[in-house]
Amino acid sequence: MVKKFFIETFGCQMNVLDSEVASARLRRLGYEATPDPDEADVLLLNTCAVRERASDKVFTRIRSIRKLRKQGSLLGVMGCVAQGESDRVLKEAGGVDLVIGTQALERLPELLAEREASARAVADVRTPNLPAFAEITPAERIRPHVAFVTIMEGCDKFCTFCIVPFTRGRERSRSPQRILSELISLREAGYQEVQLLGQNVNSYGRGRRVEGGASHSFAELLELLARESGLPRIKYTTSHPRDFNVEILEVMERHANLCNWIHLPVQSGSDRMLAAMNRGYSSDEYRRKVDLIRASERDYALTGDVIVGFPGETERDFQASLDLVNHAQFDGLYIFNYSSRPGTVAAGWHDGVPPEVKSERFERLRHLHNDIQRQRNARFVGRTLKVLVEGRSTKLQEDFTGHSTCHRVVNFSARQDLSEGRIVDVLVTEAFGHSLYGRLAGTVTG
Ligand code: SF4
Repeated sequence: MVKKFFIETFGCQMNVLDSEVASARLRRLGYEATPDPDEADVLLLNTCAVRERASDKVFTRIRSIRKLRKQGSLLGVMGCVAQGESDRVLKEAGGVDLVIGTQALERLPELLAEREASARAVADVRTPNLPAFAEITPAERIRPHVAFVTIMEGCDKFCTFCIVPFTRGRERSRSPQRILSELISLREAGYQEVQLLGQNVNSYGRGRRVEGGASHSFAELLELLARESGLPRIKYTTSHPRDFNVEILEVMERHANLCNWIHLPVQSGSDRMLAAMNRGYSSDEYRRKVDLIRASERDYALTGDVIVGFPGETERDFQASLDLVNHAQFDGLYIFNYSSRPGTVAAGWHDGVPPEVKSERFERLRHLHNDIQRQRNARFVGRTLKVLVEGRSTKLQEDFTGHSTCHRVVNFSARQDLSEGRIVDVLVTEAFGHSLYGRLAGTVTG
């Protein structure tokens, strides 16, 4: 009988891609995917540790999935919780057979074999920090139309609140030639959009850990991929404000297939908080980068992240974040209440902002941003956007849904059937807080 596997993914795009890699490796071993944990022979939870709530959710899920699994099946935990809290996973959660660290994914078949040959749980959470990147063929990918491609991994910035340098290791970059050949094979397989991934893509090519020793900067890599991949759409995330520079913008201006979306997490508008977070830029420096982006000929969507209630944040510091958000006029904003992560520098500090103050600040920022976002979206009414069709809308079955080049969700009606994965023109007729609505402009043939 064919063996089956089940994977559940928490967290960011990097984790989505890692789940695709794990699934590809299991298929090569002859396993088939199943959506039912109770019929799987191997169950994997791909975890996120970036916030306390995300990490707690994982432990709750380990306990609940243990009850569902069939006898003789193996339960594995991979991702950032596996890497950062392996002891807790093995001891506190119990019943876990495999702990697969973030740099051990390629060893999944080996670890499975080791576990099958012994009665003990096996774990690999070493961090060799080598520029070794797992590859999958287009046919092995689960997501159609949009492909995530890692260009670099890890982070050397050590922001005081962040667990990533401890769970994903030090910065290392993949060779430009391998990235380019993967993009070309994705285009040949019919993919329309690629999202380049890295914890800090602007650090691409820096330092000694570059595969093959190549030394492209991120701007040079973008130039190469835009010019030679033939892909209609290339997006990237995440940028660091300290390293985001005018060269990157100049390349984006030159190539229409580099999409008009920039994610530039600011975290706070207060210089005092930015210094405490070890972000390496001031509020004014961030504003100048925003002004540069807004002054461009292209109409960029700018998105960001803000942490509310970082240790020591006063009302005045928070007011500075409100001012900055007002200045930046973000098209999208991820707001997080600060939560302490074990192992980070800030974890040793007194988290003096009471939860009710954090919640109240969160709400004030959310209200401000919602107003801004509605206005930013309203300006699209009457305009025609290129939309990559990703399927039927979940809101109204006869409608379609997709993303614009500026990374907005666009739902739209069409008087014809449309195949997923094609790029169509949509006339925007309505704007909402988090999405746009419109109708197919003209008729699509072929
Ligand atoms: S730059 Fe980003 S990934 Fe790196 S430590 Fe700071 S927040 Fe974490």
